[in-house]
Amino acid sequence: MVEPGHKSASKCGWNFTRFSLLTCDLCGRIMCCVPHYPLRIMQQLEDRLAAPKVVVIGAGIVGASLADELTARGWTDVTVLDRGPLFATGGSTSHAPGLVFQTNPSKTMSEFAKYTTEKFAALDHPGGWAFNPVGGLEVATTPERWADLHRKAGWAQSWGIAGELLTPGQCAELHPLLDAGRILGGFHTPTDGLVKAVRAVEAQAQASIARGATFRPHTEVLGIVDDGKRVTGVQTADGVIVADVVVCCAGFWGARLAKQVGLVVPLVPMAHQYATTGRIEPLVGRNSETAEAGLPILRHQDQDLYFREHVDRIGIGYYGHDPMPVDMSTLESDTAGEQMPSMLPFTDDDFAPAWRESLKLLPVLNDSKLEQGFNGIFSFTPDGYSIMGEHRELAGFWVAEAVWVTHSAGVAKATAEWIIDGTPSTDVHECDLYRFEDVARTDEFILTTSSQAFVEVYDIIHPHQFREALRGLRTSPFYPRQQELGAFFYEGGGWERPAWYEANAALAQRLRDKGLPFPERDEWSAKFWSPLSIAEAHWTRGHVAMYDMTPLTRYEVAGRGAAALLQRLTTNNVDKSVGSVTYTMLLDETGGVRSDLTVARLAADRFQVGANGPMDFDWLTRHLPDDGSVTVRDITGATCCVGVWGPAAREVVQPLCHDDLSHQGFKYFRALHTNLGAIPVTMMRVSYVGELGWEIYADAAYGAALWDLLWAAGQEHDVIAAGRVAFNSLRIEKAYRSWGTDMTAEHLPGAAGLDFAVRMDKDDFVGKAALEQAAPPTKVLRSIVFHDPTAVVLGKEPVYLDIGAGGPPACGGERSDRGIGTNGEDCVGYVTSAAYSATVGRCIAYAWLPAATAAGDAVAVDYRGSRYGATVHAEPVVDPEMSRIRR
Ligand SMILES: Cc1cc2nc3c(=O)[nH]c(=O)nc-3n(C[C@H](O)[C@H](O)[C@H](O)COP(=O)(O)OP(=O)(O)OC[C@H]3O[C@@H](n4cnc5c(N)ncnc54)[C@H](O)[C@@H]3O)c2cc1C
Repeated sequence: MVEPGHKSASKCGWNFTRFSLLTCDLCGRIMCCVPHYPLRIMQQLEDRLAAPKVVVIGAGIVGASLADELTARGWTDVTVLDRGPLFATGGSTSHAPGLVFQTNPSKTMSEFAKYTTEKFAALDHPGGWAFNPVGGLEVATTPERWADLHRKAGWAQSWGIAGELLTPGQCAELHPLLDAGRILGGFHTPTDGLVKAVRAVEAQAQASIARGATFRPHTEVLGIVDDGKRVTGVQTADGVIVADVVVCCAGFWGARLAKQVGLVVPLVPMAHQYATTGRIEPLVGRNSETAEAGLPILRHQDQDLYFREHVDRIGIGYYGHDPMPVDMSTLESDTAGEQMPSMLPFTDDDFAPAWRESLKLLPVLNDSKLEQGFNGIFSFTPDGYSIMGEHRELAGFWVAEAVWVTHSAGVAKATAEWIIDGTPSTDVHECDLYRFEDVARTDEFILTTSSQAFVEVYDIIHPHQFREALRGLRTSPFYPRQQELGAFFYEGGGWERPAWYEANAALAQRLRDKGLPFPERDEWSAKFWSPLSIAEAHWTRGHVAMYDMTPLTRYEVAGRGAAALLQRLTTNNVDKSVGSVTYTMLLDETGGVRSDLTVARLAADRFQVGANGPMDFDWLTRHLPDDGSVTVRDITGATCCVGVWGPAAREVVQPLCHDDLSHQGFKYFRALHTNLGAIPVTMMRVSYVGELGWEIYADAAYGAALWDLLWAAGQEHDVIAAGRVAFNSLRIEKAYRSWGTDMTAEHLPGAAGLDFAVRMDKDDFVGKAALEQAAPPTKVLRSIVFHDPTAVVLGKEPVYLDIGAGGPPACGGERSDRGIGTNGEDCVGYVTSAAYSATVGRCIAYAWLPAATAAGDAVAVDYRGSRYGATVHAEPVVDPEMSRIRR
């Protein structure tokens, strides 16, 4: 049925039958109905006709933006409650100086910021601007920062944000208070700027109120009311306010509120210093009271500082002090009755280095002094990203927390879409409430890592950098053996993961002597990397290697409804014979790739699902049927897995096993429960590295014995242990995608090159309808191979179509210093993952590129200011016939 007035409505449906659907197919709005139904039916219909009642907790920038986004989509029964006054409520927003630097390593966060600037620029407030696009300038005073600004300029290009690298002189022209002699250069983003945060709150609040929303000051939410399954309202001193949906936008108070309903929201309220100088002579008369600022907002990240103008004064923010986590219990008593409970007294000593460094960068400050300051509180999270989503066990309870002003409207838009449509239009996996492993939801972990996030907020973070605190929390049973072999461990998901093994140093030397190239790396790309990984990858292709696959998340999905559930949730046919293994995907309702899975049918009603992480558990659990016919269990920690891969894999494993492991006896993509020696194992003939071999699973208790057995058997075949870096390189050679890096919910399977795992001829599955209607993709994921054997990129770099594609590449495969453009116009895509391929002797990467790009096209990639030529390559780059794996 289609609401009258909608263009493609064939007919208005006023002649409803009793069973007519009462929503408009086009806009989703509920329509009216005929009045001749029995009373009971009428009541139900009336209930449905009423727009869902939404209570938003918190009238800060997030709550107000959300009210605006919800009401703009027709959900007008929105009540926003705040414990403070309106619109300077006393939360973080009330005193945020509102600097918006859009460029972020995360594409999602950059998109949120971009939307926020565009939206706020269009807001109408009688007091004046809500967004002042003064531009953003980030300066470098060290070579490391200068190189990093090149990387940042690359992200800006990749994400479509206009930006330009400037000389010191150009920086000083833009910001004349700068001592140009102190800086090496700067990165300028003309569309960055200042948000007048309380104005932006009020303008959005008024827009929502005009559509029917209500804002209630001095109304503290004391508790959440529910019926055991879903939220039904909130408790205030004046009684219960009924609600179908409650969204917690309570800023740093949010974790405490969520805890009341059994939800861990991993954030830490943290104090951060902000101070304002007295009058600065050169600024006097420069900015009107209304404009407030004209110079670009300024970041001096080498000293953890940022600056903005306040008419003729300078505001200085500082992240260089030790983290100051705030104890909410003492805060409540300390700030009871305060207008601004989120403001703590300024601690001068902590600010002393900030002032010293500010004087150096902006010498004009020498004639001034600090006049005011405060330690303001806002939220930090373990990974620095926001937290969004719906409580799994309490339907209708949502959170949108740990959000900067910078990202506020973007987060609000995505949250509104998620609530109303079921799926946000932006991929939000980096912000998902359920992205955290269990270990990451403990108090100690949250405090330690969020404090670290504060320390690192302006640090140069390498893409492969891993956490150093709280190590050794999760180890596989092979860990002691790996230590003996000199493993260098990365951390991921709480697990210790071998990246490479020092024990392979002699092997590497031998291979080097025999002529295997080990190209030198620049200092940046050599970090968190070892040439030993080249030897490990090479040896895997030629001989055999053992890989610890234990940290790969796996679930047991069991019960009489298990097959039906997995058929319904995934794209491929998994309802196959016992022993089958299927590569498949989870899609969302819009057809976006939520995850990719390996599903092994181990019994008629029992599957082992290899997954990507906690969000998959969340998705599966949310879709469990009510009848109890399916259970999902995380078996990752209780089991272990070793991958034995390489041409000699069968010679290592077959002698340990009575079952036939020949190519015909144990086919590709099959699973077998068997024994290796005395150890019960489940073997799966799959290989993410593209070689003959198996993933071998066992109960964790057998792990050490299993490793020893395989290791001993492998000795006569020169088996090695190999790590994640080699593994990553081999999987890229084979065109195996990594979810979250190469593709996300933003992409349809076809665009990501994964149509082979979609069975459109099977019964309905989540996302199928969207795929049926999907237009051809405009961007596709492609493999590119670099020309220069020393070229290495690490991910997220911008990609350009090389002039004269098809002919000799303009960059000639050489490093060039063309720098980075001033806008994103000629940037056609970006790199996702990349690795040096020992097999090809070149770096191979994936990149999102225009759909028209074909194998043989020339492209160029900007890596921290150097441009490398590459060619689009047919996939997979290595062993397209799959002969290595099927033998
Ligand atoms: C000094 C400082 C400088 C900053 N500078 C910047 C910057 O330059 N750029 C930037 O992007 N970000 C900046 N931030 C961060 C930014 O201010 C915050 O991240 C953002 O304002 C958070 O918005 P919010 O709506 O989530 O929270 P808040 O603004 O804190 O709003 C939450 C609201 O919830 C209300 N509330 C809480 N509990 C309840 C309850 N139980 N019942 C009813 N109401 C409740 C509170 O009263 C409050 O009004 C800065 C923060 C500080 C402290």
